[in-house]
Amino acid sequence: MARRGLLLILSSPSGAGKSTLARRLMEWDPTIRFSVSTTTRLPRPGEEDGREYYFRSREAFEDMVKTGEMLEHAEVFGNFYGSPKGPVETAMQQGRDTLFDIDWQGGQQIRNSALGRDVVSIFILPPSIAELESRLRSRAQDTDEVIAGRMAKSRDEISHWAEYDYVIVNTDLDKAFAELTTILQAERLRRDRQPDLSDFVRSLNREFETR
Ligand code: ADP
Ligand code: 5GP
Repeated sequence: MARRGLLLILSSPSGAGKSTLARRLMEWDPTIRFSVSTTTRLPRPGEEDGREYYFRSREAFEDMVKTGEMLEHAEVFGNFYGSPKGPVETAMQQGRDTLFDIDWQGGQQIRNSALGRDVVSIFILPPSIAELESRLRSRAQDTDEVIAGRMAKSRDEISHWAEYDYVIVNTDLDKAFAELTTILQAERLRRDRQPDLSDFVRSLNREFETR
């Protein structure tokens, strides 16, 4: 049966584990499309243009915003980030779900857009602030200064937790992942995401009548 694609938004303070959970979710269901954001920040070692992000100049980014190519955009940690609109529309037409790893500002903008009814939003919390910092350090991708900046922003990001449909505390990764897939499976079964149901029930009624 056909299904209406949904927009799964994951937000969290940096280091709480949303990229790890997002990667696992796409291995679990390869039909999910990851929304590759455009950013003006520089690539980290190992990041590839078009895979983690589209790395663009400030001018190119501003052009995309001006021409209405962004579904949402925001400034985070002094850089600009935005979600291109075109691929999201294509995925929805194909009945595919799109996964967004974006901050609370992006979450608000998509929730308030014409696509708001298709949004399922999940906030990921760390088990403690000490563990959040330790995860940022163990990721070994950022300088001390960048880590301090991310920690300072965490409180602000966490203050938006109540705007989300669901909250997962990522203490144990396997448990957090099981919770994530449970949410997705239930949301996919919502009546309004199954447009063929009326036809299906009509066919059941026809079967009654021919018995
Ligand atoms: P985010 O995308 O939210 O910034 P990451 O997914 O990059 O965070 O996770 C930050 C670090 O924490 C990574 O090194 C990741 O492997 C680790 N991590 C994620 N979830 C857990 C967990 N439940 N327990 C321990 N370490 C975790
Ligand atoms: P990072 O630089 O660590 O990859 O991402 C920094 C923050 O920017 C994360 O909280 C991430 O979720 C957020 N982010 C990434 N892409 C987008 C986007 O397209 N829009 C918005 N609003 N935030 C984004």
